[in-house]
This record gives sequence, C-alpha cells and structure tokens, in this order.
Amino acid sequence: MTALFPAKTYPVLPVKGETGTYPIARIFCVGQNYADHAIEMGSAVDQEAPFFFMKDAQSYVPSGATLPIAPGTENLHYEMELYLVLGAPLFRASPDEAEAAIWGYGCALDMTRRDLQGEAKKKGRPWDFGKNFEQSAVMGPVTRAADLGPVADQRIWLRLDGEVRQDSTLAHMARGPAELLSYLSRFYHLEPGDVVMTGTPAGIGPVAEGSHIEGGIDGLEGVSLRYTAAE
Ligand code: MN
Repeated sequence: MTALFPAKTYPVLPVKGETGTYPIARIFCVGQNYADHAIEMGSAVDQEAPFFFMKDAQSYVPSGATLPIAPGTENLHYEMELYLVLGAPLFRASPDEAEAAIWGYGCALDMTRRDLQGEAKKKGRPWDFGKNFEQSAVMGPVTRAADLGPVADQRIWLRLDGEVRQDSTLAHMARGPAELLSYLSRFYHLEPGDVVMTGTPAGIGPVAEGSHIEGGIDGLEGVSLRYTAAE
C-alpha cells in the first residue's frame, strides 16, 4: 500500500537555544480568558467553565513571516497570546499534575477573521471559518518552562506599526495554564504535541496591507508578522 499523495508531516516549533524542535499535533485555543477582552467582545468570562476552539496544526506559521491578508475577510484581527506546549500525557489530571506536564511556553498570534466569527456567533454556527484557516496560528520559538519560571505577572503586549495596542499581564488570565489543561484533560487524552493558546487581553483590532505586528511576553522570545495585499 502506498499513499496516493504525499502525507503532510507535523510542523515543528524551534526551541530557544536548542537544536531539537517541538512537533505540533493539535492546537487548542481558549476563548475570552481575560476579563477586559471578554468585555470588549460584549461578553463576560464564563464563571462555570472555559470554552475552546481548535486550529489545525497545518495552520502554523513561524514568527517573522510575511503573509498575504487572508482570503474571505474584510476584518482580519490580531490577538496576542501566551501559548504552552505539553511534554507528557494528561487525562483527568489535577491542576498540579497539569502544571508538571507543561514542557514550555511561547508567544503566539491567534489571527482571526472577525467578521466571519461574528456571523457564526449570531447564527449559532461553528467558528472554524473565523478561527481555523491557513496561516492563522503564528508562533515564536518555545522556551522551556523551567527557563521562564512560574507564570505570574509577566507583561504581555502587542504593537501594531510601532503603536502599543495590547498591554496587560499574565496575572489577568481568568484561568491559568494548569487550570486550562486540567479542564481540557477531562475531554481529551492530551499528549506531547498538544499546544494551547491561552487567550488574549483587550485591545484586539484589524490589520491591513503593510501592517507590521510585534508582540512579546517578559521572559520569552517575541513574535512578529507583516502583511502584504490579499492574494
Ligand atoms: Mn484568541
């Protein structure tokens, strides 16, 4: 038996200061995990449970890329986020067990077709067209968890064309990495290769042809991106 066409391989994340890479299998993303962002979306952080959506591993694009504006949207938005990557399996894990399984962290941009997401919300339809599209998961290199230290009040920020648009701290997350993973592990057999984007603070907004995005989190390698015209 031979494959009818070449099978895709997992994309890999560079690791800061190391030659080994981290293969991405799945990308989970949490919605509305900062109160100020939930408010700007006309909502509030759900006190009962977090909610998630996913992006294909193939939607990964490395930091530093220059991309065309995504097709099918008039309102492509940036969302600056902390991501984590797993180093061990997790199933029905406590937050402490989840914490111990985090291999590393990095900076991500959860690029979003806001107009399509909004239409989907209104009609009670899935978010895939708004969130899960080609080149929508922009990520900087992974830093080992031990090299970052505990996730606490590190600054998280984003500049669009040199102007600060998002500026918060990781302490403003409604649910931290361990809590998010513990929750996810009730529904999925999580494994190494699983990535979680942990949500964005307030200040989201549109990009345009020529936009230059730079984002950072204290203690991590930053993320950057440029846009050219739509194809
Ligand atoms: Mn997001």
